[in-house]
Amino acid sequence: MTDIGTLYVVATPIGNLKDITLRALEVLKTVDLIAAEDTRHTLKLLNHFEIKKPLTSYYEHNKQYKGAKIVAELLAGKNIALVSDAGTPVISDPGELLIKECVQNSIPIITVPGACAAVSALTLSALNTKRFVFYGFLSAKSRERTAELEQLKYEEKTLVFYEAPHKLRQTLKDMRQIFGDRRISVCRELTKKYEQVLRFSLEEAICYFEENEPKGEFVLVLSGSEKKEGAFNSPLLEMSVRDHVNFYIQSGMDKKDAIKKCALDRGAPKRDIYREMID
Ligand code: SAM
Repeated sequence: MTDIGTLYVVATPIGNLKDITLRALEVLKTVDLIAAEDTRHTLKLLNHFEIKKPLTSYYEHNKQYKGAKIVAELLAGKNIALVSDAGTPVISDPGELLIKECVQNSIPIITVPGACAAVSALTLSALNTKRFVFYGFLSAKSRERTAELEQLKYEEKTLVFYEAPHKLRQTLKDMRQIFGDRRISVCRELTKKYEQVLRFSLEEAICYFEENEPKGEFVLVLSGSEKKEGAFNSPLLEMSVRDHVNFYIQSGMDKKDAIKKCALDRGAPKRDIYREMID
């Protein structure tokens, strides 16, 4: 009886090809077949490392029938590597269903870890990294995206999103509208020639990208809420903005801090609070 094969989940670089691991190269060289999100894309990677292997496609729209074929090959004794276009397969990439199918069929699965854009961005964010929520891509539909962000409004952990350049400006505006003016680290083109990490407030991010066309790949790392759900129902919110600020001044804060705290309580930009104080 033939032994069943193993599925290797192999991470590939997110830009810089030198980020491939020694183990990834070894596995890609020794498996019988590589299941790739885009075979042409992976062929370039294999050519770079002078690896010749049969490739088969495995992506979102063929995962049902291709998964069954891959499982059949594994059961027949083939060792197969799963790769995506960049980074760690299964994470905002095809593979989740295949992993479940392998587990159902008692097929061994081995991870070959490596680059992941979300984790790389977190390490550079200068935000709290002890606990975080990885959200991946928000919905492309405006109403659904807004609903998703509303659900995250009181999340205290750092939030990590993937975003496409053509949607970045709108997403930043939606975030600012729903979350108020929080800190954000916009991580662009990580490990590539034009790697850039912009650490600023959502308000500043919106201004920056009004002047600069978003180009390349982005991870957005956003600070979590400083307010628990329900805190927005505080009696302070029944007061006028002026009384709200004065309450904090009378409690001993200077005017600047009182305005900052008032803005945070109300989930409003500081400049709106300043404006109300001047009027
Ligand atoms: N599985 C991949 C991983 O482990 O990071 C993510 C795949 S997901 C389809 C692609 C998204 O990841 C991009 O739209 C972008 O948000 C993010 N991304 C991938 N490579 C990146 C890079 N070099 N710099 C910044 N973001 C990147």
